[in-house]
Amino acid sequence: MDNQTVPSVIYRFGQGVYINLTNRCPNLCTFCIKTKWNMDFHGNNLDLSGNEPGSGEVVLALEKELPKAPFKEVVFCGYGEPTMRLDVLLFVAQTLKGWRAQAKYPPFTIRLNTNGLGNLINHKDIVPSLASVIDAVSISLNAQDAPTWRQLVRPIPEFENGYEEVVEFIRQCVHAGIKRVVVSCVDRTGADAKSVEKIAHACGAQFYLRSFLDD
Ligand code: SF4
Repeated sequence: MDNQTVPSVIYRFGQGVYINLTNRCPNLCTFCIKTKWNMDFHGNNLDLSGNEPGSGEVVLALEKELPKAPFKEVVFCGYGEPTMRLDVLLFVAQTLKGWRAQAKYPPFTIRLNTNGLGNLINHKDIVPSLASVIDAVSISLNAQDAPTWRQLVRPIPEFENGYEEVVEFIRQCVHAGIKRVVVSCVDRTGADAKSVEKIAHACGAQFYLRSFLDD
């Protein structure tokens, strides 16, 4: 196996160090790049082939990677939904928070990228646990109403009524005091981004229009 094909648990992008915890996701978004880009992300192979890393493996990988170059944030975001691995996510985020308290590395933020279905996935309210360890959350809403969301995000049947749950998750994250809550919408999908922005602001969150990646 050469370096190109070794699956990346940790990878770099911009000023961030990213953690790829899983390839599993209850959605099959029409705009998801993991299939379009054949599980590659800018030269990183994010295909874990079912070998999801444990907490210890992620912590060791971070200890190897973080000293290599400056970074401003550590982000839970791979080719899958990180809250599918809630226990690992919380353990690793708590470890990062501890390192930050010890000033082991220059200051950085801890962010989660999510589809907002974490409460449904875990059958419980996960927001208080998340709020205790992360600083920022980016939530993909991507639609102004439930029918559009179902059409674009294509959730598994169990979650087909999940749109309102995602909006509620956004509200909960704001109320829990997570410092930066950003709601995103991918452009050029047919969704009404202006209306998504209004929903984000009504929830007390910020809005981000994400580019449709079609290369
Ligand atoms: S929620 Fe994210 S990982 Fe899941 S299918 Fe959609 S774009 Fe892909």
